[in-house]
Amino acid sequence: MSTQTNPSGQGRLADSIDTLPRIGTQRAAQLRRLKIDTVEDLLLHKPRRYEDRNHFSAIAEARDQIPSVFRVTLQTIRKGRGRSRHRGFVEARVTDGSGEMTLRWWNQPYMARLLNIGTEYLVYGSPSLSGETHLDHPELEPIDDPENEEIHLHRWVPIYRLTKGLSQRWLRQLIWNSLKALEGELTDRFRDIHGPGGLNREAAIRQLHFPTDRSCAEAASRFLARDELTQFQLSLQERRLRFIQQAQAPACHNSNRLVSPFLKALPFHLTKSQEAVLREIREAMNQSFPMRRLLQGDVGCGKTVVATLSALMMLESQSDVALLVPTELLAQQHFQTIGSWFQGLEVGLELLTANENERLNESRPRLTVGTHALLEAGYAPEHLGLVIIDEQHRFGVTQRNRLLRKGSHPHLLTMTATPIPRSLGLTVYGDLDHSILRESPGGRGRISTHVRSAPQRELIWKFIRDKLAEGRQAYVIYPRIESDEAGTVTSIAGEAEAVARALGPARIGCVHGRLDRAESARIMEAFRTHHLQVLVATSMIEVGVDVANATVMLIENAERFGLAQLHQMRGRIGRGSHDAHCILIHGSDSESARERLEVLQSSLDGFVIADYDLESRGPGEFLGRQQSGLPRFRFADLTRDRHLVSEVRDRVRDHLGLTSSGARPVA
Ligand code: ADP
Ligand code: MG
Repeated sequence: MSTQTNPSGQGRLADSIDTLPRIGTQRAAQLRRLKIDTVEDLLLHKPRRYEDRNHFSAIAEARDQIPSVFRVTLQTIRKGRGRSRHRGFVEARVTDGSGEMTLRWWNQPYMARLLNIGTEYLVYGSPSLSGETHLDHPELEPIDDPENEEIHLHRWVPIYRLTKGLSQRWLRQLIWNSLKALEGELTDRFRDIHGPGGLNREAAIRQLHFPTDRSCAEAASRFLARDELTQFQLSLQERRLRFIQQAQAPACHNSNRLVSPFLKALPFHLTKSQEAVLREIREAMNQSFPMRRLLQGDVGCGKTVVATLSALMMLESQSDVALLVPTELLAQQHFQTIGSWFQGLEVGLELLTANENERLNESRPRLTVGTHALLEAGYAPEHLGLVIIDEQHRFGVTQRNRLLRKGSHPHLLTMTATPIPRSLGLTVYGDLDHSILRESPGGRGRISTHVRSAPQRELIWKFIRDKLAEGRQAYVIYPRIESDEAGTVTSIAGEAEAVARALGPARIGCVHGRLDRAESARIMEAFRTHHLQVLVATSMIEVGVDVANATVMLIENAERFGLAQLHQMRGRIGRGSHDAHCILIHGSDSESARERLEVLQSSLDGFVIADYDLESRGPGEFLGRQQSGLPRFRFADLTRDRHLVSEVRDRVRDHLGLTSSGARPVA
């Protein structure tokens, strides 16, 4: 689906591509393969590169391996065989007056049919000067209609992505004609948001295809990136505005009737960061419209207590609260923790999973901690005022909405331990306000991280044996259950035995996704109570285990994980007062893989790590394991255009009268 479709009065731009002259069914089908459905799609089809056809390189002066354009005449064609029996080639001899050169195509015998002796061609590629000058697999464009020289020659010309049956010339001509036909219709849409000055939309689209020079093409691309980000943010923020104006939130009075005694009894003081975030939440829940907030904070920074205090604010106002978590284990853990904090308070607390329904007392309203069971009909709160979602990336929008619909516009607090770079967050979670927990509670041991390679494994085992002897516990993590075909990824089933051998008499347990739930819960419990010293696991360990005595984590084939994910796993250690060690074994020889891992060695800041991850892997990969929901942008690049994303969002919110921090509409 196009992100560029403008619903209102767009005239011919929104028309289907086959309304254009000379576009029949076959051409339309070819264009659709390039995701060109409408006239606007055509005009926004971004060239993959440009060619400066004001000047051509001379064959006599060709430079080795430097991409160049030559204007040549074809002299001879020859088919031949390479040394290997299967390698046929087609060779064409060409000249440009200054010298001669050989063009060559391997295993493409049909090329012989497509080439015409005596015809002029534009040839693009990186020539090789070793031996006689030659060019393998060049891009080729015949100069066969002198009438249209103004389009294809003596200027910067666009080179597009193509599909079978389409030629550069044909597509270039089509776009040229369409630009002409639509003159005056490509009006600016967002002048009132971005102010006057700079390019206008029509000029930008023209320069996109037929730029004056390279820098004009870049400026056009930037303009169109801003344009599409603006359109995206506008639809997002307009929806937000309507919501604010229409949805009446459950009241939250903040009497502190429960909050004060809770804080008095809490065995620790809140961090500055927790206090700041709680102020933001309190203020948001005081508004007349429902809070929609994403709380980001590294593993271990104390989101649970923030969630609990938010719940108390709502319980004080006689509304129920639901806390949704992804696993039974986590639900039980939260139920226990929160239960112990609630001792002596007159509030209801309930655990609800597929297998369990337990109540601490019968008080109403109550906080219900649960798994997916909360989404079922069995959970029917009287007056749901607040929905909290822990580890939100494990849930989809549908699930979140199903829970929200159990009340009348309840407040929403979703929490994640995966720090999301701002540009991504504002795009994928652009309809949410963001709160960030930046500091972790003090009094914990240091976490140091070490990147190592396989040959150092003996030393590492010894190190772990020593730590076990000191009374600590360890995790050993493998990327997945079975080894892949190449056998390069070590398998957990086989490796658990190797770990057992290496760590001698240590008591070892192994959990992975294929175990049934009761069994893995039993093993986790044994680890938590120190009956097991070592836990061999797949990445499922990511979520929810809280064992302060576990201070060593060894991660095999660490290069297989994203940095954000490794960082999150690492958060499982360093929860107690002892120093902790995370050892990353990288199983590839790649220097860049090692460099990537070393980012973890030098930083404990989830946001720094996430930014690096985004840069090295791109937004799709970064979000891959979490949610898709990433819009398809043609021009905007969420890595490169980070600042633009923030700037556009702020401008759009200003324009709509939404403040950039909170969500108060300007009266
Ligand atoms: P996460 O953000 O990963 O959910 P948790 O809420 O599980 O983190 O908190 C990790 C640990 O830190 C818990 O044992 C919790 O009780 C403790 N904790 C939270 N806040 C503080 C604080 N301000 N001071 C000391 N310990 C805290
Ligand atoms: Mg948590």
